Amino acid sequence: MSNEKTTTGFYTGTETEPFRRLRRLRMTDAFRAMVRETELTTKDLIYPLFVVPGSKVRREVTSMPGVYQLSIDEVVRECAEVKSFGIPAIILFGIPSHKDEVGSEAYDEEGIVQLAIRAIKRDVPEMVVITDVCLCEYTSHGHCGIVRGNEIVNDESIELLAKEALTHAQAGADMVAPSDMFDGRVKAIRMVLDENSFHNIPIMSYAAKYSSGFYGPFRDAAESAPKFGDRRSHQMDPANSDEALREVEQDILEGADIVMVKPALPYLDIVRRVKDRFQMPTAAYNVSGEYSMVKAAGRNGWIDEGRVMMEVLTSIKRAGADLILTYFAKDAAKALR
Ligand SMILES: [Zn+2]
Repeated sequence: MSNEKTTTGFYTGTETEPFRRLRRLRMTDAFRAMVRETELTTKDLIYPLFVVPGSKVRREVTSMPGVYQLSIDEVVRECAEVKSFGIPAIILFGIPSHKDEVGSEAYDEEGIVQLAIRAIKRDVPEMVVITDVCLCEYTSHGHCGIVRGNEIVNDESIELLAKEALTHAQAGADMVAPSDMFDGRVKAIRMVLDENSFHNIPIMSYAAKYSSGFYGPFRDAAESAPKFGDRRSHQMDPANSDEALREVEQDILEGADIVMVKPALPYLDIVRRVKDRFQMPTAAYNVSGEYSMVKAAGRNGWIDEGRVMMEVLTSIKRAGADLILTYFAKDAAKALR
């Protein structure tokens, strides 16, 4: 043994201490807290909400225990509670009363999301309201855009998405979040917002969104499963990583203010690469399947749900996410108090 350092600069020990005692700083709660590198806070969390027509509706999603479809009055109550936990923001998904080929209710000024935004802003004005911008909840075929033959067409669809984003901003949304993964949609939305004096409304783009099996339970909640085909012509192949950087770069060039990776857990390497490369405010979506797996295993007594939840959320932040969209937001906020 010697006290020489290796060529890579690592400590190799001495005569009296043949190795580094890394456990020293793990011996007490105080030491562990002093050297903790990642701190999850409620300010990091964004809580997704599903709004449905009607009043006094509070319908639990079978595959997502603790998650509800809520009518507007209930969404407003929920926002007040979410606010009381110190969670700064929600993201809204709408389930319309009427679906059609072109997803008309998505860009209707009196659509479900537009009405919900106004109600929240009236009663809980300090809540940051982010809106999901997509057509899949609103189209009869369940696709994210207009379908012609076998193709989900790009350019016509992004016009409608821009229209949708504008109606959200007009209703009072603080931020819009396009989730479709069509090419050019961030630019189209940015241009329409700017032309209508909404130059201060930021865009959080679902920049690297993968075609994932982890979205299953969400489609029950949002009633947005495609009636035929799938989303592989626009969402990314799970096997790709370099492509994610191209997608993110493109959205930044088009005007995205926050870039998102979705899902989170199976793509932590992507979160890290995106954060390292672009140093942008980066969000990660801890999606429904990730939530439901933890819930189900917890309910079976196979894991300690609360502990695993905190470990999952901390790992997403450690990977580089500044913001985490998660159905665990309220549970985590309670645990952090
Ligand atoms: Zn969609």
